[in-house]
Amino acid sequence: MNAKTPLPLARPPAGSPPGSARRWRPTPLITGTIAVHAGAAAALIAQPACWPYAAGAVAASHAVLTAAGLWPRSAWLGPNWTSLPDGDCIGERREIAITIDDGPDPDVTPRVLDLLDRYEAHATFFCIGETARRYPSIVEAIVTRGHAVENHSQHHRHYFSLLGPRGLQREIEAAQYTLTELSGTVPLFFRAPAGLRNPFLEPVLCRLGLQLASWTRRGFDTRTSSASVVAKRLLDGLAPRDILLLHDGHAARDMQGRAVVLEALELVLRAARDAQLRCTTLRDAIAHASETTATQTVAKTAGPHSYEVHRHPDQLL
Ligand SMILES: [Zn+2]
Repeated sequence: MNAKTPLPLARPPAGSPPGSARRWRPTPLITGTIAVHAGAAAALIAQPACWPYAAGAVAASHAVLTAAGLWPRSAWLGPNWTSLPDGDCIGERREIAITIDDGPDPDVTPRVLDLLDRYEAHATFFCIGETARRYPSIVEAIVTRGHAVENHSQHHRHYFSLLGPRGLQREIEAAQYTLTELSGTVPLFFRAPAGLRNPFLEPVLCRLGLQLASWTRRGFDTRTSSASVVAKRLLDGLAPRDILLLHDGHAARDMQGRAVVLEALELVLRAARDAQLRCTTLRDAIAHASETTATQTVAKTAGPHSYEVHRHPDQLL
């Protein structure tokens, strides 16, 4: 996969999104919920007096779905990256991914970029479409300095998880077009605002060729004004394949009015360097996992001292 494939900058016609679609496969929870609804309907037809039980079963299934959507790291509603793919069993790739949400921000993002340069680190920026439109030169700088721009919805609406299929499609597709046009690359990953979602999201992501990504750990740096506390949350148990979440937009400020992310990010970058962990982007991690799998395949066919092939790259997206 070529992560930097240039794209036509004009807005494509409606109905032909830039990403390639994949097939939606319902999770066991979704299948179970459909079965509960069908069973409740059948029971009502056969035995109308059992309606309290049927209604209770349907309500319980909805409560479980809602809980799954309120838990950002759950995979109950669909595939969800909470860590980098595990295609590194030979190469011992010591990689983590720093992801930075809610930008670009005219004050914070350029300083974040300078900091990343200083540590030769690459990061993934989950940008808001309408904010990116306001600061196109910053989006361009993110990409030209070796980082990735991914989809964090067009407006970052606080009621995003309450939208139906059409509303979700509009929000995500608009950001997909905006960010593709501004960055020259097609976003491959989507992160929901505040990580909250509902069962309609995954089919939309499949249609748009996007993979949901959450995180291993987050610093709550939009609410916490202490950089050391934010960094401690992110670094507690730091290990290869971790995905860390920080914010350049909506960043909390410390007592001096400085965006907390700046000091927290420096602490994280220093700790990663000391632990010999390389900071990569989510999309580069796919390429690295594919390379490793290809190496494994060669090794497997080369002789008796073979390796187990854990995952095919097609399964990574
Ligand atoms: Zn956000």
